[in-house]
Amino acid sequence: MEQYDVIIIGAGPAGLKCAEILGGSELKVLLLEKNEIIGPKVCAGGLSALNTLLNLPAECLSFEKQKIILNNSKYDINLVNPVKIISRFDLGQSQLDEVKKFSNIIFKKGVRIEKIHNEFILTDKSEKIYFKKLVGADGSSSITRSFLKLENKIYIGIQYIIPKTHYELVYFLNPKLLKTGYGWIFPHKKFTSAGVYFNPKLISPKKAKSSLDKLLNVYGLDFASAKLEGALVNTLFKGLKFGNIFLAGDAAGLASANTGEGISYAIASGHDIGKYILDKSYKFDKIKEIIKYKKRQEFILKIFDKFPVLFVQTLMFKIFIKLIKQPKFQKFYGV
Ligand SMILES: Cc1cc2nc3c(=O)[nH]c(=O)nc-3n(C[C@H](O)[C@H](O)[C@H](O)COP(=O)(O)OP(=O)(O)OC[C@H]3O[C@@H](n4cnc5c(N)ncnc54)[C@H](O)[C@@H]3O)c2cc1C
Repeated sequence: MEQYDVIIIGAGPAGLKCAEILGGSELKVLLLEKNEIIGPKVCAGGLSALNTLLNLPAECLSFEKQKIILNNSKYDINLVNPVKIISRFDLGQSQLDEVKKFSNIIFKKGVRIEKIHNEFILTDKSEKIYFKKLVGADGSSSITRSFLKLENKIYIGIQYIIPKTHYELVYFLNPKLLKTGYGWIFPHKKFTSAGVYFNPKLISPKKAKSSLDKLLNVYGLDFASAKLEGALVNTLFKGLKFGNIFLAGDAAGLASANTGEGISYAIASGHDIGKYILDKSYKFDKIKEIIKYKKRQEFILKIFDKFPVLFVQTLMFKIFIKLIKQPKFQKFYGV
């Protein structure tokens, strides 16, 4: 019978961090990933100040200013904490390098978990593998979360990958086109991510895409040769621990419904679950440090969503921009 102390499903930022923390312990750990290549994920790669656990390479892009375009008005915002832009491939590979240092972590790629039972999992290779503890770090369409019968609150991110660099970080706010969602332009070293994040209960993916096209055309960004991609973002947090089963990152619904930011939450939760598995007295400190920002951002989003009248939302966005210019509010809001 194949049995592990801990099985981690998913080698995204959450699963890899959890494996790294368990590395070097006496536990026999199995990390399983359905993809063959570790890292790539539909994601704009932006990191705010909430990232406290990543040693970012010095050469990652950093922006001290961002532009907000509200309808037709442009605002320049100086950031106390620069936004960092990372490559998901590089992040995944550097996290994997850390994990590979440990002989107690068995890593298998190209293995999809198809079913979860109380004490074992079944893979697409018809393997039955037993666990004492299971960590679901399997993203927004988590099979682990489904097994726990937890509901979801899904947002969507759609982005163009434009094979050209760009010079400025831009956010688009436009309640007529995007309701309380937003658009972005995030420059990377060799390409640019231009996308839209939205609540599918308020606008359809088709409308969100055509709104994004409109905004990029008006801004003057050429996306003719771009690749379009999209993914779900689960934002309903119900906890990290459910008996001997844990949820981390997007599987736990940790991404912010307001901003879609999820990498820092994924890493903090993977870290904390690993620490807790090693020591029951551990208090999930890292996630506690930052989850307050998700709650604040979602509280503000709730107020915006309560007043779906165009001129009221425009006015509220204007107030928001006035506030976000203030270093104190940036700190409060978590940028
Ligand atoms: C368009 C878009 C833009 C975004 N931009 C940003 C941004 O700028 N900044 C930010 O912080 N966040 C952003 N996010 C959110 C961010 O991508 C996620 O929050 C983050 O990737 C969550 O990490 P995770 O480890 O929890 O899950 P994931 O990164 O989704 O990793 C889960 C892993 O589990 C694997 N897996 C899933 N199911 C199985 C299975 N059954 N068996 C085996 N393996 C499985 C997957 O292949 C994957 O590798 C964006 C999201 C979208 C959609």
